Parts: sequence; structure tokens; C-alpha cells
Amino acid sequence: MGNLLLGFAYVLQLLEGPAGWSWMSVVNHSFTLCALLAYSVGGARFFGRQVPLLWPLIGVALGYALVQWMLHALWGSVARYAALSATCALSFACMVVALAAGMRSFARDMRGEALLLIVLIGGICVLNVLKLEKLLAGGLPALRMDGRFQMVFYVYMCSLATIIPPAIVWLVLRRLTDTLRGVAAHDPLTQLLNRRGLGELLDASFRRRNTGARLLLVDIDHFKCINDNYGHHVGDAVLCAVAGILRGAVRKDDVVCRMGGEEFAAICPGGDAETALRVAECIRSSVESAAMLQGPGYEDLRCTVTVGISERFTDHASWERAMRAADAALYRGKNAGRNRVEWALPSHASDPVPTLQMGVELARAAP
Ligand code: GH3
Ligand code: MG
Ligand code: MG
Repeated sequence: MGNLLLGFAYVLQLLEGPAGWSWMSVVNHSFTLCALLAYSVGGARFFGRQVPLLWPLIGVALGYALVQWMLHALWGSVARYAALSATCALSFACMVVALAAGMRSFARDMRGEALLLIVLIGGICVLNVLKLEKLLAGGLPALRMDGRFQMVFYVYMCSLATIIPPAIVWLVLRRLTDTLRGVAAHDPLTQLLNRRGLGELLDASFRRRNTGARLLLVDIDHFKCINDNYGHHVGDAVLCAVAGILRGAVRKDDVVCRMGGEEFAAICPGGDAETALRVAECIRSSVESAAMLQGPGYEDLRCTVTVGISERFTDHASWERAMRAADAALYRGKNAGRNRVEWALPSHASDPVPTLQMGVELARAAP
């Protein structure tokens, strides 16, 4: 819309001939200002703000036509042209300031692109200030289309009009792709990574030749009873509460995800057995001691989890084995009475066997 309005304004400028008072010139100036408004609204909408466009556009078009008539009547044509240059310079300066401030907030994920836009828009701002200066010093002859400054001005503006639309399409597509990738990789209920997101993360870490990690499979015990006794919506709230507890129980570099249903996973990078056991025990005891939901009727709503710890994995093949082993460990934990941490059985006879004694000692040591 901004480009369309600016295009119309330039066509009118070419048709109207030498600068002066005419209806084409008035419409041209109004359209130029409307184009700025459309660019600003487009920018705000791109960054997620819901801003109206149509009525503000009509308001600016009519309001600025009136302002032009008053300026012309009071101070003549130079004042009208000077007002347009000053308003454009000011508006572009505001855009530059908004983008610079936005690099720390709404445009955080596109700093490079925002910086490029700041430079390009800053250029328009400077050109408008120069135009204003020339107008005030030399009057309307400064606006002759065959003058050097006007040529530079229009070559710059036309170049931007060519560069910016595809650049904006590229930005929109990039943001859309990032959003879709994020949606596909996360569980909508708990906002944790889902199985697919975890897979992508692990693939990337396998490519970097990592130092290995362990998988902790965490399954809520008798979760079906919570659904049956309190309803599915309370079950959902418990899943969110457990997700929050898991986030708080793991270390900074550990990754938590929801594998599906009432089953979660934590990845402990490094693969050290004692650390993995410590994290698993922390998860188990934190869930056991937490009140799931606040409010009357939920005083007795508690739950526990069983955790299966895998062997260390370093690549895709060992990850598949780790999944199966952690799942088998989880199954054994369920059969052994739930609310416990269970190790995967070592796949090689030479592997060190982490003893459950370790877990018992840690559990005893826990507050
Ligand atoms: P166990 O201790 O053996 O793990 O028993 P369990 O009841 O936790 O396991 P089971 O597999 O029998 O039941 C899991 C239940 O989780 C069944 C399913 O309806 C419920 N469930 C799966 N996904 C969701 C969800 O997104 N929200 C809710 N509220 N319930 C879910
Ligand atoms: Mg379960
Ligand atoms: Mg389950």
C-alpha cells in the first residue's frame, strides 16, 4: 500500500510540471504522507501490533490537504513544500529511532535487517533535511527536476522502491518460516520442545560431534486416575505443572521436552552417570513434594513420576538404543512400584554398572 501511494505521488509529480499550487500537487503531497503512514502501520503489523490502516489513511489525506491549503494561503508555496520535507524528515527520523529501540525488543531476532533498514531510512531522512535547507535558501527553483540534487533524491528513492519490496517479502517469509518451525517443534500445551523439536536439536548436536549425553525418560504415575477423578482439564493443568517443575529441576544446559501424553524427557549433556542420577532424583523428589494445583478441592492432588535413565549416547544410532533402554528402565521402574529412578541395563558387559545404591544414597541425602 505504501509503495502504491508513493508511486501515485511520483506519477502526479511528473504530470504536474514545475513546482507550484495545483490540485495534483496537493494530492501528491497528501499521498506522500499517506505512504509514510502505510509503511509505519505495515511495520507495526509485521512486528505483531494490531494497528488500523484505512481510517487513519483517509484522516491523514484529508487533514493534510487542509493543512496545505492553510500553509499556501498564509505563507505561499515554499512553505507548503518545506512542510512536506520537514514532515518526511521527522517521520523517517521517528522510524529510525523506533527501529533502533526495537532492536532490543520486538526486532531482537532481526538485528542485521533492522540495522540495514536504519541506514536506508536514515538516508531518506538526510535527503529530506537537505531538501528543506535548499528550499528555504533558494525557494521553488531548488525543486527543478533537472537539478542535480533532485536527480540524486529520486534515484535514491527509486532504488529503495526497487530494493525494499522484495526485501520485505523476504523478511515476512523468514519470520513466517521461523514461526512455523517453532510451532512444529513445540508442544502447544506445555510450551516444551516436542519429540520432533528434540530430534532436530539432537541432529544438530550430533553434527557438532558432541561429548555425549544421557536421556532421562520421565512418566507420570497413574496419570489416568487424575483424568478420571478430576477431569481432562485438570489433567492438562497437571501436565503444565509437571512441565514447570521439570524446567526448574534440571540444570541450565539440560533440555526438557514432552515426548507425548504424560511422558517427558530430559537430556543431560556430558553423559556423566552421577550427574544424570542427581538430575533424575531431583526431578523425582521435586514432583513428589510439589502441590500440583492451588485452590479448594485440590489439596489431595499430588503425583509422582518414574524416571528411566539411559546409557550415554553420542550419535543417531546410540540415541535410538538409548531411547529403547530408557523405556525398558522406565517399565521396570513401574513394575517395581513407581515413584523411583531406574537405570538402563548396560548393553556391553564391560560398561560400568551404575548401582541403585547411588540413587538411594542421593535420595537419602535430598532434603
Ligand atoms: P502408569 O503409572 O503406568 O504410567 O499409568 P498411567 O495412568 O499414567 O498411564 P496410562 O498410559 O494408562 O494413561 C495415560 C493417560 O494419559 C491416558 C490419556 O488419556 C492421558 N493423556 C494423554 N495425553 C493427555 C493430555 O494431553 N491431556 C490429558 N489430560 N490427558 C492425557
Ligand atoms: Mg504414566
Ligand atoms: Mg505413559
